[in-house]
Amino acid sequence: MSETLLLLDRLGARPALFVGGAWCEGHGEAASVRNPATGLEIASVRLAGPGDFAGAIDGAQSAQAGWAREPGAARGEILKRVAVLLAARRHDLAEVLTCEQGKPLSQAAGEVDYAASFFQWFGEESRRPAGRLQPHPLRGREYRVKPVPAGVVGLVTPWNFPLAQGAKKIAAALAAGCTAVWKPSELTPLVALGLAALAKEAGLPDGVLQVLPALGPVGGEALTADPRIRVLSLTGSTQTGRTVVRASARHLPRLSLELGGNAPFVILPDADLDAVVPELIKLKLLCGGQVCVTANRVFVPQALEPALISRLSAAWAGLRIGNGLAGGMDAGPLIHAAACERVRALVEGAVSAGASVVAENRSHESDAGNAGGSFYPPQVLRGVRDDMPLVREEIFGPVLPLLTYSDVEDAVRRANATEAGLAAYVYGRDLSLANAVADALEAGIVGVNEWRPLRAEIPFGGTKASGQGWEGGEEGLREFQELKVISSPVPQIPGRS
Ligand code: NAD
Repeated sequence: MSETLLLLDRLGARPALFVGGAWCEGHGEAASVRNPATGLEIASVRLAGPGDFAGAIDGAQSAQAGWAREPGAARGEILKRVAVLLAARRHDLAEVLTCEQGKPLSQAAGEVDYAASFFQWFGEESRRPAGRLQPHPLRGREYRVKPVPAGVVGLVTPWNFPLAQGAKKIAAALAAGCTAVWKPSELTPLVALGLAALAKEAGLPDGVLQVLPALGPVGGEALTADPRIRVLSLTGSTQTGRTVVRASARHLPRLSLELGGNAPFVILPDADLDAVVPELIKLKLLCGGQVCVTANRVFVPQALEPALISRLSAAWAGLRIGNGLAGGMDAGPLIHAAACERVRALVEGAVSAGASVVAENRSHESDAGNAGGSFYPPQVLRGVRDDMPLVREEIFGPVLPLLTYSDVEDAVRRANATEAGLAAYVYGRDLSLANAVADALEAGIVGVNEWRPLRAEIPFGGTKASGQGWEGGEEGLREFQELKVISSPVPQIPGRS
């Protein structure tokens, strides 16, 4: 048994499907889960096939009415217990996460905390949804407007934050009184299964959360072909989002889509570069740049570019890239070799069109143990133009392309010239200007002098092709509720006029 499977065992989980509160073998193909830092297999999981989804939806449907009848406060207590258990098993979960995803252990532990914050938040929100009485225009009648659970929901999540992306959706759906069938990424199923075990330990009734690692098209087809799935919440690429929208035309579940980004990072002329550079680097290296809200395009005033490059180059030289399990790493490997090849092709394309690499860090090469891993050296490029695929597409790697501008108006126009509208960042000393730029940027969330504005307390979602719907905040729970209006006679004491 691999070290990772021993950890999983300690969490009470198995490399299998979690259906009806028990572990079972899938009927799909076997997937090899590999540590991206070594390329070695850490687990093999028989994935779910179409029949497994049908059975899981049956179970979630049977559990639905009972779970919905529980008072919101009682549902919330269970969710808050999950938050406590996540904190208690933080280290084991983080290690599983690092082994299957690759991010440094400190970032993985941060992801566990972030996941726990959603269980805590929605555990509290669970008691709050209230309806209202609405006056009726006819005498003797009234309207009752009630939020009700949407029903059974399908949740699909990616490999970059395999615990937190699930936590955001599961906590909100369960708080709303829905039962859920969760399809985590086939590349990172283990930490998801660890969460399932903790949910059971926290007292979640069997069938309320079913976890089925599966290939994307298998899970997507099963969840969109079944009319009992009333909300389908996907976090993934915009391309997958489009596929799911088309497939959903059959039964029209409500869609909640958290899709790709192409975030601009706008450095204003009065920005303090000494403050900007460490935050820009943390943002770019989080999860090796494989983050929907990472800085994909850095807009810098022409006059500041030399100073920015000099500071970035100095910091770049000290970065430590390697196996995330070794302490003190700034970044780990990318998810697999194909991801490295994709990033390399984008960079080579930019260089052959006139850009140049002005900083690179190959520190992973100093450890022979990293030879089998999918490492990509962090790079800074200058001479990049807006029409290059490097900045038109999501890079999803540790590469910072610098785009210079001469006036702020122009920077805003170019920052908005993308189909994506997920996150944006503005750094400057004059807060009036920085906030005006933030207002003008087309994005679901903007960090003004802040590199990580996402929190459980606020709604997060994309505009334009970055998606629809919200996660977090009060709004996150409403994604999983329907509003029901009952028009009825006002109660009367018999004989009273
Ligand atoms: P992906 O779209 O390939 O996969 C995401 C999930 O969708 C996986 O579970 C996958 O198996 C599944 N999937 C694939 N094809 C499917 C189909 N036909 N039907 C249903 N499900 C299918 O994305 P990825 O490579 O895992 O993740 C990276 C992408 O996710 C990036 O574009 C990133 O920006 C985006 N992302 C967005 C957010 C956000 O909050 N907006 C957060 C994280 C990642």
